Amino acid sequence: MKINFPRIKWNVFGVVCGIVIVIIGHQLKNILHAASVAEVKVLLPFIKLIQIAVVSLYSLDSSASLYPPHATVHDGQTFDFIIVGAGSAGCVLANRLTEISSWNVLLIEAGDDPPGASNIPGLSILISAALPDWNYYTVDDGFSSQGLKTKSIQNRRGKMLGGSSGVNFMFYVRGNKVDYDNWAKEGIEGWDWNNVTTYFKKSERLNDKYIMKSESADLHSTKGYLGITQPDWNQKTKDYFNAFKEDGHQILLDYNGHQHNHSQKDD
Ligand SMILES: Cc1cc2nc3c(=O)[nH]c(=O)nc-3n(C[C@H](O)[C@H](O)[C@H](O)COP(=O)(O)OP(=O)(O)OC[C@H]3O[C@@H](n4cnc5c(N)ncnc54)[C@H](O)[C@@H]3O)c2cc1C
Repeated sequence: MKINFPRIKWNVFGVVCGIVIVIIGHQLKNILHAASVAEVKVLLPFIKLIQIAVVSLYSLDSSASLYPPHATVHDGQTFDFIIVGAGSAGCVLANRLTEISSWNVLLIEAGDDPPGASNIPGLSILISAALPDWNYYTVDDGFSSQGLKTKSIQNRRGKMLGGSSGVNFMFYVRGNKVDYDNWAKEGIEGWDWNNVTTYFKKSERLNDKYIMKSESADLHSTKGYLGITQPDWNQKTKDYFNAFKEDGHQILLDYNGHQHNHSQKDD
């Protein structure tokens, strides 16, 4: 077995950076509680600077790129398929289409290869402001974000190979049954919940013996490309869950299971 020492070194570095950010973040949270608005204005660029430094340092590992070389496209060249946007959907589509080896597929992406920092689950939550983004902001619609002085919030969209999956939080959340069925009713053939569930199952490789023994086992599969696990939070979340239960809420074993798929009108 070949051991990739540079990658191990940088992964350790990433984890250490993550821990440092959590500690700094924790301390800053305490400071921010006590700070005035003026002080917060000074601190926020400082936090962004730390985030950019972590992303830049972690991305120095250019020698061990995980990604294939870019294609060189010539004038007049033709393709069987051209996919614009190498995000979550575009990458899967390109992968599936190239399973037919005689098909020639061009995948075009506006952003670059992702920085190494985007590969560490959980780190993106702490440094998302410094990851490649389209910098979209909502407009003042006179209704939302009215409590903010700018009356606008940032709407993050990843700009890199992998798209928004390079900044996202990696929760495996399927859409709601009612939404899919409504789309189908409105004429979008094939998007009803039964049909999309076939593809959710086809893509999923669930590693959770409790869910696979539960009543929602029929909604899952263990053989797809997309590996899914549940973190074992043990005691850490017990108090929160007990508090939710006391408040009359149900704790679901599987938030993609049958119980999840009810209409909001049922609430
Ligand atoms: C901060 C954040 C957290 C999230 N957390 C979760 C989560 O925990 N779980 C979950 O299920 N979902 C989450 N999501 C949502 C999920 O990431 C997106 O729904 C999903 O990635 C969308 O996939 P997509 O292929 O439609 O678009 P994207 O992945 O955004 O891909 C679009 C790609 O197209 C490229 N592109 C756009 N225009 C052009 C152009 N003209 N030419 C070339 N390329 C172009 C973009 O650069 C991008 O790479 C989150 C999203 C964000 C932003």
